[in-house]
Amino acid sequence: MIARQGRQPQRTCIACRRTADQNKLVRFVLGPDGTLLVDYRHKLPGRGAYTCLSRECLEKAIEKRQFQRSFQGQAEAASVETLMAGLHEQLLARVESLLGMARKSGQLETGTNTVLDSLKKKGKFAVLILSEDISESIGKKLTTVAARQDVPVFNMLGKNRIGQLLGKSERSAVAIKVGALADAILIELQRLAEMVREN
Ligand SMILES: [Zn+2]
Repeated sequence: MIARQGRQPQRTCIACRRTADQNKLVRFVLGPDGTLLVDYRHKLPGRGAYTCLSRECLEKAIEKRQFQRSFQGQAEAASVETLMAGLHEQLLARVESLLGMARKSGQLETGTNTVLDSLKKKGKFAVLILSEDISESIGKKLTTVAARQDVPVFNMLGKNRIGQLLGKSERSAVAIKVGALADAILIELQRLAEMVREN
């Protein structure tokens, strides 16, 4: 096979046997005590096992003792709830860190009025994040404007937490400008939304 440029290493889901780009699968490693650890960012050392980012595959992998097989019987039993919680936590942390980067590089706008105005410029923004505790009427207004511009909308975190991440007081709306960072954030937000749907 001819290696294409930028081609990702391929890995196989231990549950459904699907082969995919490594970064499309979730990596798991064993902690020193045999605990199964989620390694969402593929950064932990040691042998890894991979699954799809889906509850179904996690359940299947546990049920069929595929983690035991991958780690030569060294893995402690894990529950799907624990693994899903770990995954959710790391996904959220990833979004938070990307938001921090977007802030530092001036790739976002915040504040409901600013965002409402800015969103009227076509093609400028790629993603709109609303806090989970945004007031219903403002949330509706922003969602309508975003829909008109084909900007996807995601609800996450509370306005206090979003404000904290951006070094500001509470913020219930964040619009991210079109670009590589927005693309990266969009992928993680879609994964988060998918996880919430599954649960
Ligand atoms: Zn799978």
